[in-house]
Amino acid sequence: RAKGQPDNRIAFFEQSMADEAYRKLVLEEDLRHALNNDELLLYYQPIVDCVTGRVSGFEALLRWNSPQLGMVSPLQFIRLAEETGLIIPIGLWVLQEGCAFLARLYRAGYVDMLLSVNVSIIQLLQSDFVESMWAIVRDAGIPPEHIAFEITEGLLMETFEANSEKLRLLRQRGMKIHLDDFGTGYSSLKYLQNLPVDLVKIDKSFIDELEGNEHTVPLVDSIIALVHRLGLQTVAEGVETGLQHSRLACFGCDRIQGYLISRPMPEEQVLPFLKEYKPRQDNSST
Ligand code: C2E
Ligand code: MG
Ligand code: MG
Ligand code: MG
Repeated sequence: RAKGQPDNRIAFFEQSMADEAYRKLVLEEDLRHALNNDELLLYYQPIVDCVTGRVSGFEALLRWNSPQLGMVSPLQFIRLAEETGLIIPIGLWVLQEGCAFLARLYRAGYVDMLLSVNVSIIQLLQSDFVESMWAIVRDAGIPPEHIAFEITEGLLMETFEANSEKLRLLRQRGMKIHLDDFGTGYSSLKYLQNLPVDLVKIDKSFIDELEGNEHTVPLVDSIIALVHRLGLQTVAEGVETGLQHSRLACFGCDRIQGYLISRPMPEEQVLPFLKEYKPRQDNSST
């Protein structure tokens, strides 16, 4: 055995690659099954207007309620869904389900909510992306102005030319484009002036630092001012404290989203939440 015996480390490496490949295969099968067996669901996180204090809309966030794995975070399966192409049918389902949710809100009397839906670059790359998204919104009878697509900045940049035209077409039909996780990854101010977007979501990593890092305060202040000067709006994501909220309000941030307002919730909690929600007072001391 001595001659052909593999190096232990290589053997281990090969084994762990095989494990990884196997784990992926199982997960892929499970995910495919999940889509066909109603194991996917959307949670909704409210977004609040800083001026009026009212709920202006919700972001739809995907969850996988797996009988084997329990509640699985999108961070654990979106990439796999992208690699396998499953994100295409999943993305269509997310928009359909989100539109149906918005229609139910309408019937309950909430007629001016904006629903934000995350869109993967893989979806955006499909040649029929614009038509398939538009068909879902139209068939749902939702005013297109009440749907926003969240696109993550970093990925968009790489294939900017091809995709900006698609985003423009969606905007022409009334739908909104929001730039997600702004300031992370490949962030480039140069692109911001040309991108067909309506709103910029300032990444949670900046909001986290608003209390700890002295340089972050003027930085976030300036980002908001800059985005406004480009004629776009701002949402701060991941707002957890009253101090973050009051600083952001002070800088003129348009809307906030985060655990301070509410965690993402299942649909059955949305109407009770809307009925009970009271705009927060300015409490910079908390
Ligand atoms: P994202 O679009 O940036 O969504 C915001 C994430 O921050 C959500 O995580 C939300 O639960 C979390 N969050 C919001 N406020 C707070 C806060 O105050 N504190 C903390 N610690 N977290 C907060 P989630 O739901 O785990 O989603 C993670 C990411 O998965 C999303 O980031 C998005 O990129 C992706 N994702 C979620 N749903 C979909 C989907 O339907 N399609 C696609 N393509 N991606 C999705
Ligand atoms: Mg998002
Ligand atoms: Mg985000
Ligand atoms: Mg983020």
